[in-house]
Amino acid sequence: GMNTLLDEVVTRRFASERSPKQCHCPSKGKGTSAAYDYLIVGAGFAGSVLAERLASGRNKRVLLCDRRPHIAGNTYDFYNKAGILVHQYGPHIFHTNSQRVFEYLSRFTVWRPYEHRVLADVNARLLPIPINRTTINNLYGLNLSDEAEAAIFLASRAEPCRTIVTSKDVVLAQVGSDLYRTFFEGYTRKQWGLDPSELDRSVTARVPTRTSVDDRYFLDTYQAMPRDGYTAMFEKMLDHDNITVMTGTEYADIRSENVAAHTIFSGPIDEYFEYCFGRLPYRSLNFQHETHDMERMLPVGVVNYPSEAVPYTRITEYKHLTGQIHPKTSISFEFACADGDPYYPIPRPENQALYKQYESLARDLTDVTFVGRLGTYKYYNMDQVVGQALATYRQLTRTGLRDAIS
Ligand code: FAD
Ligand code: UDP
Repeated sequence: GMNTLLDEVVTRRFASERSPKQCHCPSKGKGTSAAYDYLIVGAGFAGSVLAERLASGRNKRVLLCDRRPHIAGNTYDFYNKAGILVHQYGPHIFHTNSQRVFEYLSRFTVWRPYEHRVLADVNARLLPIPINRTTINNLYGLNLSDEAEAAIFLASRAEPCRTIVTSKDVVLAQVGSDLYRTFFEGYTRKQWGLDPSELDRSVTARVPTRTSVDDRYFLDTYQAMPRDGYTAMFEKMLDHDNITVMTGTEYADIRSENVAAHTIFSGPIDEYFEYCFGRLPYRSLNFQHETHDMERMLPVGVVNYPSEAVPYTRITEYKHLTGQIHPKTSISFEFACADGDPYYPIPRPENQALYKQYESLARDLTDVTFVGRLGTYKYYNMDQVVGQALATYRQLTRTGLRDAIS
C-alpha cells in the first residue's frame, strides 16, 4: 500500500535525476539542458501569475500546461452561443483588501466597479444575506431601528458556546438556532454533503452577521470585475515570448520528459503523489447553464437557496456581474456533488491531517513547488491565490517585496 507507492514516487524521481543524459554531462552540455527553466502545471491564477512573474521579472523560459482546453482555471469565462459573457465554473467576483494584489492585476486589465449582493430565498421571500438588520426586520416583522437594537435582538437569540470549533458553533453563537436553520444548515449540507457541525468554523465564518443595513456580500476595499472578463485578463498576463502555453495537456503525459529543472504544481497535491496516503476529499459541482429570452431574471447577481427541498444551492445571473447589456440573459444553477472536477478543499481536521502528510513529502522535494487552492489544499479566494503566488515567486527568486512585482 502506502509505502510501496511512496517508494515508487521517490525511486522514479531519483531514477530521472540519475538518467544518463544528466550524468554524462555535468556542465549542462548542448542538447541536454532542459528546454525550459520552469514547467508550470495549471493555468489558473496560481500557475499564470507565477508564469508571468518568472518570464517578465526574471527572464525565465516557462512551459505552462493545463489539462483543460483553456487558460484561466476555474475563473474561465467566455461568450456563449447567445453572445452573453458567462463563467463556465460558476460566479467569480473579485474582491480584496490587498493594494499590492489589486495593483499587480491592474497591469493586465481595466476594471469595472461591482459590489456583489446576494438574496436568500426563504419560502419564496427574498432576504439579504449576510444576515443584516433588514434581514431580521423582514423575516420577523420587526422594526429594529439602529445597530444597538439589532445587537440586543441578536444577543437574545445567540447560543454562546465555550469554544467555537465548528461551522455550526460560529453561527449559533452569533444568531441562534432559528436563523442558523433558516440560512445555514440546509445550504451547508447541500454544498458540502456534511452537517455544519462536521466542518471547521472557517467555512461559515466567511459569511458574517451584521447589525447595520449594509447588504453587500463583501466589504473589501477593492471590489471590481475585469472589464473584458477573466480570460482576457489571463491572455494579457500570459502574452510573453518566454511563456509557452499548452492547454489540453496532462502533466502525467509530459512528466517523464524532463522539460524543465523545476516544476510548479497547482493541481491537487494528492494527485501529484499518486494518492500514496489516500485521496484528499474535494467537493465538486455540476453547473446547469441556461439562456432565457428576457432581459433580466433575478433582482441581484446571485440568489441562494438554503432549503434542502431545493436541489441546487444558488442561481447566478451573469449580466449583473459583467454589466453586459443584451436582450437575453444567461443563468447557472449549482448542484454540489462528491465526484467530478475538484473545486473546493473541504476544511475539517481529518482532511487537514491528511494534507499535512502530503505537505511533508512536498517539503522534501527541492525541484517541485506546490501552489494554489488545490496544490496547498486551502479554501482560498482569488486574491489569496494571487498573494500566495507572488510570495512563492519571491521565495523562488529570493527577491525583496518591492522587487517581486516590479
Ligand atoms: P484553479 O483555477 O483550479 O487552476 C488549477 C488548474 O490546474 C486547473 O485549470 C486544472 O485544470 C489544472 N490542473 C490540475 N491538475 C492538472 C494536471 N495534472 N495536469 C494539467 N493540468 C492540471 N474566489 C473569489 O475570490 N471570488 C469568488 O467569487 C469566487 N467564486 C468561486 C466560485 C466557485 C464555484 C469556485 C469553485 C471557486 C470560487 N472562487 C472565488 C475561488 C477561485 O476559483 C480560486 O481561488 C482560484 O481560481 C484558484 O486558482 P488556482 O490557480 O489555485 O486553481
Ligand atoms: N453559507 C450558507 N448559506 C448561505 C451562504 C453561505 O450556509 O446563504 C455557508 C455555506 O457553508 C458556504 C459557506 O457559508 O459553503 C461559504 O459561503 P460562500 O458564499 O463564501 O461560498 P463560495 O462562494 O466560496 O462557494
